[in-house]
Amino acid sequence: MGSATVYEFARRGRRVLGLEQFDVPNALAAYVGVTRIIRLAYSEHPSYVPLLLRAYELWRALESAAGEPLLFITGGVDAGSESSWTIQGSLRSCNEHALAHRMMSADDVNREFPGYRLPQDLVAVYQPDGGFVMSERCVVAHLNAALSAGAEIHGRERLMDWDASGGTVRVTTDRGRYEAGALVLTVGPWTPGVERQLRSSIVAERQVLLWAQPRRPEYFEVGRFPIFNMEVPEGRFYGFPVHSVPGFKIGKYHHRREAVQADSVDRTCHPADEAVLREGIRRYFPEADGPTLAMKVCMFANTPDEHFVIDRHPAAENVIVAAGFSGHGFKFCSVVGEIVVDLATRGSTDFDVELFRMDRLTPRS
Ligand SMILES: Cc1cc2nc3c(=O)[nH]c(=O)nc-3n(C[C@H](O)[C@H](O)[C@H](O)COP(=O)(O)OP(=O)(O)OC[C@H]3O[C@@H](n4cnc5c(N)ncnc54)[C@H](O)[C@@H]3O)c2cc1C
Repeated sequence: MGSATVYEFARRGRRVLGLEQFDVPNALAAYVGVTRIIRLAYSEHPSYVPLLLRAYELWRALESAAGEPLLFITGGVDAGSESSWTIQGSLRSCNEHALAHRMMSADDVNREFPGYRLPQDLVAVYQPDGGFVMSERCVVAHLNAALSAGAEIHGRERLMDWDASGGTVRVTTDRGRYEAGALVLTVGPWTPGVERQLRSSIVAERQVLLWAQPRRPEYFEVGRFPIFNMEVPEGRFYGFPVHSVPGFKIGKYHHRREAVQADSVDRTCHPADEAVLREGIRRYFPEADGPTLAMKVCMFANTPDEHFVIDRHPAAENVIVAAGFSGHGFKFCSVVGEIVVDLATRGSTDFDVELFRMDRLTPRS
């Protein structure tokens, strides 16, 4: 979110300073693990769809600027029981926004996409625009474009404190002090340590990704295997075709439900982490059930309702908070950059961001 924001300020000719506590880019942020799912069918809420339509456009524009492919369309499978949150929510977003989609039975999915082995009691919504973005490369592309447009970016400099009054924001870091007309806070899982008002309402959560060697690699190629989001008795799995690094990639929302502090998260992958994800592979993707190739830890930053916070700070109009992306935010980075810069420069956005109000989490007394 920070790299997209810095880029958008610079693209509009604004003077902008980006601050990152680690390296630029780094391997500790929430975007690591090569790829992130992007989809229009949005079980989470139909309000996300207009933002997604703009996000797709902006990813394509960034891809042209970067001169490398960043967005891959594979089609997307949302699977669950007919009455599940995933299926009902996916259908609602497709119907409200007239998105192309088709219902598929488990047999249809297993026949058309033989990497899948859905049980008979599941159905699926297939939406042809689903796919993935190259998250780590997208961050680099936004950073390079921001630097080309005149942004200043400081790595290894941690924001320690801020205060705002009279149209000016004063920021203290571990290296110095700055004054600016506006501050945009995009600190991901570190939000509870940075923004006092969100300390108890945004919770960092440890997650694990796993790449497995498919037994039938041809079933898991881009073009043959759509990305998925699957609600089953074990929880909600999501996954990707093989791309860019070896292996079929799978994760599970909320993994082992481990709330953590961002600075002290356990980044070692344990046998118990592997067991959670191998169970999903074995049951639903048996042709991918070869040896584990790689695993990776990263963090969600969850709000209680799992909707984002994108808003002007209730106590300071020129401080914008973009946080709490609750495990589904990456696909929106490109459009969040536009929204937060609109909020910082003109105080409003044309998008409906009511769902993302900060005061729903920090009610005024
Ligand atoms: C396993 C996993 C799978 C996911 N899958 C998907 C998916 O398929 N699709 C999708 O759309 N989303 C997905 N997400 C969610 C998505 O990756 C996040 O929502 C997104 O990366 C959040 O971006 P962010 O900028 O808020 O946080 P981050 O990407 O963590 O960036 C925050 C940055 O701020 C820096 N920072 C923190 N504190 C300070 C400070 N005090 N001073 C200076 N710098 C600071 C950090 O070092 C970090 O670099 C997934 C997340 C995980 C962990």
